[in-house]
Amino acid sequence: MIEGVPMTILSPPKLPLRSPKVILIGAGMTGILMTIKLRETGITDITILEKKESLGGTWRENTYPGLACDVPSHMYTYSFEPNPEWSHLCAHGSEIREYFERVGRKYGVTEKVLFNEAVTRSIYDEGQWTVTSSKGNTYIADFIINCTGILHHPAKPDIKGIETFDGDMFHTAEWNHTVDLAGKRVGVIGTGSTAAQVIPEVAKAASKLSVFQRTPQWIFPWANKTVSEKSKKKLRDNPNRVRRLRNLYVWMMANLLTKATAGHQPQRALLSVTCQLNLKLSIKDKSLRKKLTPDYAVGCKRLVVNKTFYKAVQRNNVDLVTEGIAEITPKGIKTRDGKEHELDALVLSTGFQNFNFMRPMDMRGKGGLKIDDAWSKKIQAYRSMFLPNFPNSFLMLGPNTPIGNYSVIAMSEVQCAYILKIICRWQQGDFDEIDVKPSAFKSFNEYLKAGMSKTVWVGGCQSWYLDDDGDPALWPYSWQQWKKEMKEPKMGDFITKKFPIKTENTNKKKKVAAVA
Ligand code: NAP
Repeated sequence: MIEGVPMTILSPPKLPLRSPKVILIGAGMTGILMTIKLRETGITDITILEKKESLGGTWRENTYPGLACDVPSHMYTYSFEPNPEWSHLCAHGSEIREYFERVGRKYGVTEKVLFNEAVTRSIYDEGQWTVTSSKGNTYIADFIINCTGILHHPAKPDIKGIETFDGDMFHTAEWNHTVDLAGKRVGVIGTGSTAAQVIPEVAKAASKLSVFQRTPQWIFPWANKTVSEKSKKKLRDNPNRVRRLRNLYVWMMANLLTKATAGHQPQRALLSVTCQLNLKLSIKDKSLRKKLTPDYAVGCKRLVVNKTFYKAVQRNNVDLVTEGIAEITPKGIKTRDGKEHELDALVLSTGFQNFNFMRPMDMRGKGGLKIDDAWSKKIQAYRSMFLPNFPNSFLMLGPNTPIGNYSVIAMSEVQCAYILKIICRWQQGDFDEIDVKPSAFKSFNEYLKAGMSKTVWVGGCQSWYLDDDGDPALWPYSWQQWKKEMKEPKMGDFITKKFPIKTENTNKKKKVAAVA
């Protein structure tokens, strides 16, 4: 059972249940989850297509030094698969990747994934999706579930001269482990959550590190404590302890940090004071403190949770450069004051194109409607999961899923349960095609918009949360509200259809492989 959401099949079932063919795109955190839960519901005809060679999604892609979660690990797990073995309060990236790999093996997901097979196209027609892969294979399904994640397309800065740089240059999500930064003059562009983790590690190795900061960040001081062997044993010996610890973090994150970042008082006031004090107590030098002081409200940009960044920028070999970047030259970076910062290597910690979702896949819904056209004006969804004119398809972690710093695993478990309830209705023969009503899509997005104006995210800062209209692509309400809203599908918000039964002769397309 997924936390707070009973995985009940809708009753009373009209037997016999139909068995749908389901295609999952992506084998990261949400793809693994969906596979496990579909199979628990008795759905076994599942094809999982993964563009890379292993499971893990963002935790496979990102391997930069210092990589760790910034949500407490005992909470950043599947609710049905607690882990008493986490080594730190916030586990390191490799440990999280191993967790997903272990879960994948335990539930028999890994052996069924078609690796190195990216979906290039998916086309809908009368209750069926035809999916084409990079290997030229074609698959047919009743449903497709896009488990493609949010933060996986690196955003490379469009800075004049970037292509002329003579040294080694790479994005944090494409870390080049063949480059030894020891004793080198290194530059890091960016000071977001990733940079705050990577900078302390690079500073230890480099002879000189120049940090190019465009906008300072508020930092919530949470030391990443190690979990002692004694504590791990206690957790291992008593599963109730793991559950209680998880519940404690869920409570803290949901009622303090998440509410604070969504703009609730007095949590927001408490968070602001904590971050301001952290800056004051951590940075002794007044001019450096001034450079690191944001001019926007705490939480407006995604809150950086970190205890090592401030120490790192005060090291003798670290220079915080706040002059704007004028251009990148073969030798390094020239700032607007005319100074050239000579560099041997340049790390781009410049974030992600988080509005891509399942693209660049060529996805076409009813009447050949392309996803790029459907989203040409604004990237939105109904309940983060549905797009009008793209029937029988779901989006995990779609637009407006994250809530500030809350665990996306918890959020996706709620989405998973919701999707299963829809599929169960298909199994019962209620419909062959389900599409969201444009009116429901519109009113849901109006409801989101009404909540956004009250959040701190629209407080005047620039962040990856915001779309071109300045609207945050986040859930503007509480975690509790998310669970309530996403618990039961409102069937009146959908248009459902039944099609005449197809005979074998009318459907000669290739069948998808069964998982179980
Ligand atoms: P980010 O928060 O978008 O930060 C990008 C940084 O690059 C910002 O400091 C930005 O400056 C700077 N930048 C971008 N283009 C630039 C340019 N042309 N010139 C100068 N500076 C430029 O990206 P991120 O740090 O990779 O984090 C993204 C998200 O990933 C996080 O918010 C979080 O959700 C997730 N993440 C999670 C964890 C975790 O532990 N769970 C760890 C790392 C990342 P401005 O602020 O001025 O735009």
